[in-house]
Amino acid sequence: MQDKPIFVTQPSLASLEEFTAFLQEPWRTGVLTHNGPLIRQFEQEACTKLGIRQMVAVTNGTVALQMAIRALELKGKIITTPFSWIATVSAIKWENCTPVFCDIDPETLNMDVDKLEACITPDTVAIMPVHVFGNPCQVDRIREIADKHGLKVIYDAAHAVGSTYKGKSLLSYGDISATSFHATKLLNMGEGGACISESETLHDKLQRIRFFGHNSAKDVVEDGFNGKVTEIHAALGLANLRYYEEVLADRKQKYAYYRDHLSENPSLRFQLLKDGECNYSYFPVIFNSEESLLKTEQLLNKSNFFPRRYFYPSINTYREILDYQPMPVSEDIASRILCLPLYWKLGMEEIDQIIAIVKRA
Ligand SMILES: *Cc1c(COP(=O)(O)O)cnc(C)c1O
Repeated sequence: MQDKPIFVTQPSLASLEEFTAFLQEPWRTGVLTHNGPLIRQFEQEACTKLGIRQMVAVTNGTVALQMAIRALELKGKIITTPFSWIATVSAIKWENCTPVFCDIDPETLNMDVDKLEACITPDTVAIMPVHVFGNPCQVDRIREIADKHGLKVIYDAAHAVGSTYKGKSLLSYGDISATSFHATKLLNMGEGGACISESETLHDKLQRIRFFGHNSAKDVVEDGFNGKVTEIHAALGLANLRYYEEVLADRKQKYAYYRDHLSENPSLRFQLLKDGECNYSYFPVIFNSEESLLKTEQLLNKSNFFPRRYFYPSINTYREILDYQPMPVSEDIASRILCLPLYWKLGMEEIDQIIAIVKRA
């Protein structure tokens, strides 16, 4: 029995001293926000480490998704996946667009590209897939379909920091990729996110949207809002960025360890990963029934381990906010998938205990 509770994740944190060292400057200058020196430094260092050319850091990942929709001036239906965090759909709805679901592939857990074209209608304006648990979508095929039908592509890349596609950062794909630096994500600034676009025009526009629609001469040139990041959050991001490679390597090693020890169990199945290109940021296990998931979860809870049912329920079943569209694959997977604890400072002894309990269940 574990004496302190072990949750599905814990933020990857630099030491408190490293964080506070960055706060000397804002305390001296009084610059706390407004595209200050720390956030610009964070953007630059993060781009180098993540292997992307440019980013517009923003308040959080949901705002990043909304800004992406704004920047592309989308009005109409956006095809997305029902197997995601609710923020994917909230962002679409807050931007007055309509989410249309495309069911998922039961192996990769990403949008099923074979079903994508059937979802396209004359009022479809964009596709918003999610790289679920950092597993890269079929980026090339999605681009092909989008181009054929004149659609934009926004990736919800909230899980994709550290993943690659054809050797290039996964964040560099799509008209815009929106990522998250929330406390639970691989790289965090407490709350934070970013829009990534290789287009200079879109990049500049996103910078203006972040800052009330001002251009560099401070004229208001479009409908913007406030997506700015504080220097305090930037400080946390900069301190945590120092451990980025270490965190990434640690996830990969722990993922492999779990997988080696659980793969012989015939009642468990794992997400089919695009080999070598995933960041291994989560360890989801697919059970053969919801009943066996619940039994395992209960046993783990009894020993003070708290895995999480990501993503449950399937988003299309939120009838309070959506007209129900049946998504049989997503609903089925969502009912029997469980993410086991996986984070930087999680001990191997704890992982061994979790593995033993799951095997026993
Ligand atoms: C975390 C997350 C978001 C939202 O990011 P926030 O920074 O928390 O706003 C969006 N989509 C997915 C898939 C996520 O996991």
